[in-house]
Amino acid sequence: MGSIVLKKVSKVFGEAKVIPSIDLEINEGEFVVFVGPSGCGKSTLLRLIAGLEDVSGGQILIDGKDGTNLAPAQRGLAMVFQSYALYPHMSVRKNIAFPLKMANMPQAEIDKKVADAAHVLNLTEYLERKPRQLSGGQRQRVAIGRAIVRQPKAFLFDEPLSNLDAALRVNMRLEISELHQQLKTTMVYVTHDQVEAMTMADKIVVLNRGNIEQVGSPLELYKSPRNLFVAGFIGSPK
Ligand code: ADP
Ligand code: MG
Repeated sequence: MGSIVLKKVSKVFGEAKVIPSIDLEINEGEFVVFVGPSGCGKSTLLRLIAGLEDVSGGQILIDGKDGTNLAPAQRGLAMVFQSYALYPHMSVRKNIAFPLKMANMPQAEIDKKVADAAHVLNLTEYLERKPRQLSGGQRQRVAIGRAIVRQPKAFLFDEPLSNLDAALRVNMRLEISELHQQLKTTMVYVTHDQVEAMTMADKIVVLNRGNIEQVGSPLELYKSPRNLFVAGFIGSPK
């Protein structure tokens, strides 16, 4: 579960061809990082996968089935945003439970799932607090908790750590990597931060102006960058 295949996916906004045509395979359980400079189309590509934007052309397969025209909620993917998007008036418990309540899950089952997610994310002590009583890192964990309870086929992260200070970012990077090892769920992670890409990814997708420059493991990209853009971006000595 959790493979995502893009076939000739394109996106046009008015006159602007933001994504000319992308082919990409994301395998089940992989941690894939989209990296590239600001404005290169990382968020757009992630939003196309999530279904938050319609493709202009091409096809998106989720677990081998055509998901191109599915509504976001039908794709079984969970998006985690940088802005947390928590409900300020609700407790941590209610924030995490929210998607399950919306799905009319029985309360006992909700309680169990929230407790499990809180345990995984070290949030058990904070369940009755409101978001404003939490640190930035804890808020980000709540946002991830709200994704975990839905048991998605894949997590889609859009620069989830960019609002955090440097020290906390390093911590959260480790936490998300550990979470991936624990859950073994596919993760697609967008960042403009090369260090994040190099330390977290199984597979890095280097984007430039809506095109893929290169796909490979951190080591492959470092040792054999295909061109100067990749070399410069990854910081390898080519
Ligand atoms: P990144 O996440 O890599 O910084 P984005 O995917 O947000 O880049 O944006 C890629 C390009 O698409 C940018 O030039 C941006 O201005 C443009 N773009 C993104 N969303 C829209 C939109 N809704 N309407 C018009 N242009 C957009
Ligand atoms: Mg972006």
